[in-house]
Amino acid sequence: MGRSYWFECSRCGYRARVSGGEDRGLDFFVQTLLCRDCKHLYDAVIRVRFPITPRTVVKQRMFGLQGMRQVLGPTHTPPHFLGALNRLPLNDLWRFRWVPYQLQCPVSRLHKVRSWNYPDRCPRCDTPLEKNVLPYRIWD
Ligand SMILES: [Zn+2]
Ligand SMILES: [Zn+2]
Repeated sequence: MGRSYWFECSRCGYRARVSGGEDRGLDFFVQTLLCRDCKHLYDAVIRVRFPITPRTVVKQRMFGLQGMRQVLGPTHTPPHFLGALNRLPLNDLWRFRWVPYQLQCPVSRLHKVRSWNYPDRCPRCDTPLEKNVLPYRIWD
């Protein structure tokens, strides 16, 4: 069960709609990150459950996890949050494997990021952000 919240800065008015830490749905995990280049918070997909079919098992044996990532996922960029959400459901498939991704900015993988876990600070002015108590969206 995953939830997104509004976080708001009382000083500069910055707002973001993110989970506020690590969270998981049925088929993927997200982690909120702060990008120092964008000065923005994002929910990044850090782990995705991929189905293992006989074909992918063979590829995995040949290339290992790195190869599997190349076969199954985009080479550099983890799927965006909504992309992962829209990929559902996979429940008629028989085996799964969690594939981890590096924490990275969805705009550019060259951006400097760090994980952001509430309570934490505004990416623009460094004031502690306030969390709206009502979830904005409940996914999965
Ligand atoms: Zn601020
Ligand atoms: Zn960025």
